[in-house]
Amino acid sequence: MSELETILRERFGFDSFRPHQAEACAVIGGGQDCLLVMPTGAGKSLCYQLPGIARGGSALVISPLISLMEDQVAKLQAQGFRAARIHSGRPREESRQACFDWREDKLDFLFIAPERLKVPGFVEWLAQRKPSLIAVDEAHCISAWGHDFRPDYRLLGQRLPALRPAPVVALTATATPMVQQDIVNQLDLQNCRKLIHGFRRTNLAIELAELKPSQRADGACKLLAKGENLPAIVYVPSRKECEALAQQIAEFTPCMPYHAGLGADERDSAQAAFIAGDISVIVATTAFGMGIDKHNVRTVIHTALPSSVEGYYQEIGRAGRDGLPSRAILMWSWADRRLHEWFLERDYPPVNEMRSLWNSLGHGGADFDSLCAELELKPNVLGGRLDKLAAQGGAIIDADGFISQGGNDWIEPYERQLAHKHDQIDRILNFAQGNGCRMLALLNHFGDRDDGRACGKCDVCAPQQCVLKSFREPNEAEMSALRLIMGALLERDELSTGKLHRDNFNEKQLSRRDFEELIGALEKNGLVFTMQDEFEKDGRTIQFKRACLTDAGRETGLELDGAVMLPDVVGAKSANKSTKRSGKAKKPSATTSPADPEAVETLKAWRLQQAKSEGVKAFRVFGNKTLEAIAATKPATKDELLNVPGIGPAKLEAYGDGILEALRG
Ligand code: ADP
Ligand code: MG
Ligand code: ZN
Repeated sequence: MSELETILRERFGFDSFRPHQAEACAVIGGGQDCLLVMPTGAGKSLCYQLPGIARGGSALVISPLISLMEDQVAKLQAQGFRAARIHSGRPREESRQACFDWREDKLDFLFIAPERLKVPGFVEWLAQRKPSLIAVDEAHCISAWGHDFRPDYRLLGQRLPALRPAPVVALTATATPMVQQDIVNQLDLQNCRKLIHGFRRTNLAIELAELKPSQRADGACKLLAKGENLPAIVYVPSRKECEALAQQIAEFTPCMPYHAGLGADERDSAQAAFIAGDISVIVATTAFGMGIDKHNVRTVIHTALPSSVEGYYQEIGRAGRDGLPSRAILMWSWADRRLHEWFLERDYPPVNEMRSLWNSLGHGGADFDSLCAELELKPNVLGGRLDKLAAQGGAIIDADGFISQGGNDWIEPYERQLAHKHDQIDRILNFAQGNGCRMLALLNHFGDRDDGRACGKCDVCAPQQCVLKSFREPNEAEMSALRLIMGALLERDELSTGKLHRDNFNEKQLSRRDFEELIGALEKNGLVFTMQDEFEKDGRTIQFKRACLTDAGRETGLELDGAVMLPDVVGAKSANKSTKRSGKAKKPSATTSPADPEAVETLKAWRLQQAKSEGVKAFRVFGNKTLEAIAATKPATKDELLNVPGIGPAKLEAYGDGILEALRG
């Protein structure tokens, strides 16, 4: 260890290791394959750079972004290391020179872009001199489950063996346990050490506020009008909102928009102005922020539910890199799920559309523009679909950009990916609806098991510190319902929430959904906790939830005055209202109530018939999860059906009538 510390001080000029760096350097320096998952800014680069120097020879680094590569090379050169890079933005002569320097053993580090792996003979050339270490940065890009999938990263699996026996270290800031396993498998990491650390952010207060979409711009402006909340990044779901909100904010504080529809120059200048502090707010779609190094961001605002927990964590991670108190505010409502379903239908078209694209690809290799014309598709639409097809081997895009038909076994993986996207939406929605500490929920998501303490700062842990979300005292009816619940639990603890509702209320008095909100409030106020349980019925496992009193809850008992605050949601429950108006008693969402087994059977029979008539596999029509969600909520109208997770506008259009009819039958 002392040798590594000496290198740290003398060669890198740092006084001490940051948390977990020493362990990672020791593992990687010792020659073991390693998966290193730590959040952005934790100092992952040092964990391959230092072992690279310690092991001697040259380290090869694969990195997906030119900007990241340029940044790393400049830093290493400034520290006196010999570093070079090869990517499409470099003059050919200099790339050639880098290759020669590599072979002549004149480099400590060579950075390459993944596209290079496609160039015939390139890896063989590199392999003339074996690297002492191979680092794959932003390794989640290799996984189709990751949120930045890059097809070229897939080539690593085939190309790395030629460069072995060097140890391979894969680094990423954003990988769920599933993505982690995918990285290990695809890179064929041997006897791999997994180091997953540091996701807890102790200076970040996470606040979720349920707001109608129409209230969110004003909410953001209210926050940004206060100097102490600046600088700030505001993430918005669309270009249109990006432009509009940036304009609104610019009326009181310097602000610029940033989205993929702007020219590269405009984007660069907005980013530069933000980093330099010339503007205090940047309003951006998700494209913004990868690799930016700005330490004093005080606030990150999301004006809509993000599309995944990983993406969300990455984005809020840009707040408070300086370690000072910072806040991440997420505005959301149930309606946001529909927005995501819509995006998903657009970006991941149904298999039959993908199949007709696949059919129209020839073997000779067509160029992109003529394909656009032939298929009458917009370039961005075709581009998106081709990427997805290429990712699963259904299209082959050669180094010159010519496109030809690939294998025909892309359908299943494509469908799996589609299911995964739906799952991501469910997960972020579960996060938003969660009643526990927000930070713990995020740590759990990444598989980072630290000491398990609640953060003490989020809207659940410290509601009194919220800056956007507001709370109110329960009204009389709510208070008496809360007392009924507490009384029942004092009498008999660990009741299932379904029974608790059935035995104490009728649906007209207090709907199941409103009841669950009261349970949620008791949980958020620390009086009750809930746990998932299950039982077997007719050979099937049925999930349900039990409510239990906490110590504080038992102590408080029925003395609830001042002990429970409810979130003050202004008009956010349009879904709830519409079901009330329809006069039908509606059960809550699938996450909180078990599916009715009979309805599940009915729906399965309907699905089988539907699948047969379309000539597709049953899960293509609906996954089991969606089916169970329908069975749990028993929607009576198309509106209600649209509220079920997994049902977007397109599915509604295609199957809505069929499902409703099956349920009525
Ligand atoms: P990551 O890749 O995990 O996002 P980086 O490797 O880019 O993070 O490191 C973030 C910053 O932290 C860099 O500016 C780096 O120089 C700095 N850094 C890394 N390790 C240390 C250390 N032990 N002491 C001081 N600064 C460090
Ligand atoms: Mg990094
Ligand atoms: Zn918390």
